[in-house]
Amino acid sequence: MTIIINALILMGVLGLISGTFLAFAAKKFEVKEDIRVAVAEKMLPGVNCGACGFPGCPAFAKAYVKGEAKNDGCLPGRRAGVPDKLKKLSEIKDDDLNAMGEKLGGDIQKIIEEIMK
Ligand code: SF4
Repeated sequence: MTIIINALILMGVLGLISGTFLAFAAKKFEVKEDIRVAVAEKMLPGVNCGACGFPGCPAFAKAYVKGEAKNDGCLPGRRAGVPDKLKKLSEIKDDDLNAMGEKLGGDIQKIIEEIMK
């Protein structure tokens, strides 16, 4: 009986140590997403058609934020006003966008609504 209790205690201690280490590692090595890329991607139609010359909307959003794509590069999004949305996004400074993200709890849709006001 004692051996079973010792095994359970050992398993509990190992689980606690492992959990603590994984929680620390997750926080330490967390990859923060660029909020500007996330907002740009959400502004796109999400068709992933490749008509912009990039292998999908996420790639186009990253390229736009880097300055490697024009705001009117998304052909399906032209009628939906994507160029205007992307232009307004590019006019916002990083600090203002980050502050807006914190204020709105990181809700990308609300950030877009705030930008388009
Ligand atoms: S053209 Fe527009 S909808 Fe198509 S992949 Fe590019 S960004 Fe996405």
